Amino acid sequence: MEGARPVRAPRGTTLSAKSWTTEAPLRMLMNNLDPENAERPDDLVVYGGTGRAARDWRSFDAMVRTLRDLEADETMLVQSGRPVGVMRTHEWAPRVLIANSNLVPDWANWPEFRRLEHQGLTMYGQMTAGSWIYIGTQGIVQGTYETFAAVAEKRFGGTLAGTLTLTGGCGGMGGAQPLAVTLNDGVCLIVDVDRHRLQRRVDHRYLDEVADDLDSGIAKALQAKADKRAWSVGVVGNCAEIFPELLRRGVPIDIVTDQTSAHDPLAYLPEGISVDDWDDYAAKKPEEFTDRAQASMAKHVQAMVEFQDGGAEVFDYGNSIRDEARKGGYERAFEFPGFVPAYIRPLFCQGKGPFRWAALSGDPKDIYATDKAVMDLFPDNDRLQKWMRGAKEKIAFQGLPARICWLGYGERDKAGAAFNDLVASGEVSAPIVIGRDHLDCGSVASPYRETESMADGSDAIADWPLLNALVNTASGASWVSIHHGGGVGIGRSIHAGQVSVADGTELAAQKLSRVLTNDPGMGVIRHVDAGYDLAVDVATERGVRVPMRED
Ligand code: NAD
Repeated sequence: MEGARPVRAPRGTTLSAKSWTTEAPLRMLMNNLDPENAERPDDLVVYGGTGRAARDWRSFDAMVRTLRDLEADETMLVQSGRPVGVMRTHEWAPRVLIANSNLVPDWANWPEFRRLEHQGLTMYGQMTAGSWIYIGTQGIVQGTYETFAAVAEKRFGGTLAGTLTLTGGCGGMGGAQPLAVTLNDGVCLIVDVDRHRLQRRVDHRYLDEVADDLDSGIAKALQAKADKRAWSVGVVGNCAEIFPELLRRGVPIDIVTDQTSAHDPLAYLPEGISVDDWDDYAAKKPEEFTDRAQASMAKHVQAMVEFQDGGAEVFDYGNSIRDEARKGGYERAFEFPGFVPAYIRPLFCQGKGPFRWAALSGDPKDIYATDKAVMDLFPDNDRLQKWMRGAKEKIAFQGLPARICWLGYGERDKAGAAFNDLVASGEVSAPIVIGRDHLDCGSVASPYRETESMADGSDAIADWPLLNALVNTASGASWVSIHHGGGVGIGRSIHAGQVSVADGTELAAQKLSRVLTNDPGMGVIRHVDAGYDLAVDVATERGVRVPMRED
């Protein structure tokens, strides 16, 4: 793309903007494009198919220039990756407000989105790409770890030792799967059409090895399964061919899922097309490519359903592959569940979700200090303690050092206060930014993922993410975003994000206390409203006010 160049966030304590509240979004925008983080930095693509941090390089330059000059009572407005205005607000207001990829509902489909994107009028923001809180594959590892831990608890006596998981897609998000499986002591066989994607995860220690061919991949995985040894093996191939082949051979697979970029049919390679021809074919004949991709996804999902018929634990991992397979003509596509209703919803009822933070100094020691603070705050949370120990040992930082762990209502604000104190005392050398994925308890409407099969049928009600963005704006977050389509594709989700800066000041302490209470509070009230007893208990015990329950 015109203007492309390598980008890396500044490190250290010297400001290039006027205050830490504007330095923070500046560094995090750049950090999203750090080649260690971004899948295709030259095209401004961070992850998830075409999820971008900025619309084009001219927009990127304008955002950087604007953030460097922005005052502590001004707000930059970003419309799908392009800065469109600077307005006088006040010091409690966000410094950046972002709206990405939103379309009026009747127009919200891929062909229309692409037409507008082609005209330079919009961009795909995914979830944390266009809202500048992507922290590399490590960001998703915790959620994936939690999901596989829940699978282990539900079906395999609390551990994946001695089980074999089959999955596809080893990209920005999907690359977390092999590590999440091995952190849960299981064996993972992961299929990707692109050898480089697999090799990259070996280099980052998320994947143990890439097999020479399918036969040796199967043999290595089965040996590890027999030894009850945690191990992960990558196989180069197309899921639409390899999954049915594994089924045909009767390979004893216990768990099946997938994280190819199925949400965008142009980012899923149909069988019979080479990786080298992919971009050209998709660009020249998008409709024909889409038909072929959906036909391949139908075969891929058919194999998944048949693995389930044979007794395997099978789930959709949030990429909309069931709906694409249905469009490709496969009628049983929705016979296996999405991962949220299957495993994650009880966590959402408690306001739990993917809390994450990054050290603006660039110094790993700052993250180690925050790790200790979190472990000291929650000594009785075994899953969290195990995760934090494993993360420190096995997870290589990408870009600015960062950490993630799932915390709930009444926990996130405590962590925020502790981090702010560490910055104030100088134990941490520069401010910490605290944000989360948009895949959170009360920030997303997504009927094929986070809000699939809600108890009251409210799957497609999209008022909640809008209220979430509004309340975070009203509570003092540093930047707030509203996106459409992330994770599952255009027309299928609306979601919101927030990031807040802990710069050690009293003002930051007050803002953090409100944001980190109200943001997960949205998860609790959303699930109370939908009728979940667990959420009602949490609201009652922890004092979350729900007017309709007060009469
Ligand atoms: P990505 O584009 O970085 O990676 C996708 C990978 O799939 C690539 O490596 C690609 O080579 C491979 N691939 C494409 N077609 C294939 C085929 N037919 N067979 C085998 N491999 C194929 O995307 P990502 O960031 O890893 O995200 C993957 C999917 O997961 C997306 O749909 C995304 O929206 C979704 N997602 C899920 C969650 C979650 O929490 N469950 C979170 C974020 C994203």
